[in-house]
Amino acid sequence: MTTAKKLFYGLSLCVGALLCGAPVQAADLPADYMAHLKTAKEAARFEWLGVLARNCIAPKVGPAVGNYNTDPGRDIWYAEPQKVFDNLYFLGTKFHTAWALTTSDGIIIIDTLYNYAVGPEIVEGLKKMSLDPSKVKYVLITHGHGDHDEGARYFQDTYGSHVMLGAGDWDLIAQATRPMPGGTPKKDLVAEDGRVLTLGDAAVKIVTTPGHTPGSYGLIFKVTDHGQPHTVAYASGTAFTAYDKAFFDTFVASQKKMAAAAAAAGATVLISNHSAFDDAWTKSRLAAWRPANQPNAFVVGADGVANFFAVMGECSLAAKSLLSSGPSS
Ligand SMILES: [Zn+2]
Repeated sequence: MTTAKKLFYGLSLCVGALLCGAPVQAADLPADYMAHLKTAKEAARFEWLGVLARNCIAPKVGPAVGNYNTDPGRDIWYAEPQKVFDNLYFLGTKFHTAWALTTSDGIIIIDTLYNYAVGPEIVEGLKKMSLDPSKVKYVLITHGHGDHDEGARYFQDTYGSHVMLGAGDWDLIAQATRPMPGGTPKKDLVAEDGRVLTLGDAAVKIVTTPGHTPGSYGLIFKVTDHGQPHTVAYASGTAFTAYDKAFFDTFVASQKKMAAAAAAAGATVLISNHSAFDDAWTKSRLAAWRPANQPNAFVVGADGVANFFAVMGECSLAAKSLLSSGPSS
């Protein structure tokens, strides 16, 4: 077992079961790892502690906290829908997030949760927000894992919505050996790098970010907050899904690419599809319930957006530095 795997499995046991045998001491860790961890901690500040904890401190391969792939009971996961910007709605559970971007010509849904949450959170959530689910024109699946794609077929079949995945993830879901709860979506739109999807007054730019899955992609789009414009950077595929040099090289390159796209667009908002990484469930309530003259919790500024990708990149380099194949570059 490599040093990296020993560390990850050791920490996983400690965190998961409080069964710490011989704890890994900082002195055992390479200087390269400690340097990347330090940089990541400095970038995380108070904003991105979830990413820091998961990817730098306990970056195990496997589902995140609360990643129930079968229904553990509505009391465990149900969260109320919230209007968080003039044209953006949180339709998530306490753990995973689906978003609705409203436009002058219909609705774009971004990610669709596990199948058991699609009806209560997305369909009923839209109605609670006085939005019409039949107006959903596009469903963007930013990567093809069950916690984000199981509602796609429902929108295709029920409302004729177009579904977009990355090319690699259309292949991924087609090759799945187990049937997808809710049904596998029929192949439709392919997320191509740089493509701008327009609907009414909205334009959503696709930024391919392979790593977590081959077809993962991020998004850049505009929202307004009480009329004030903001640009959103949407990050998908946050957790590590492999531990080898090729994986981390691809993953780090995608973080740099998405950070550059966010900076070029002047993004001041960073969201994703797991509350463990972006605190969306908490921020959604703060954003929706605040008095009109208070700041929106999702607006973290250009520095805040840059720091998210810095934490992601540094944690990747830290993990890579522990590989037996050699130090990171
Ligand atoms: Zn995933």
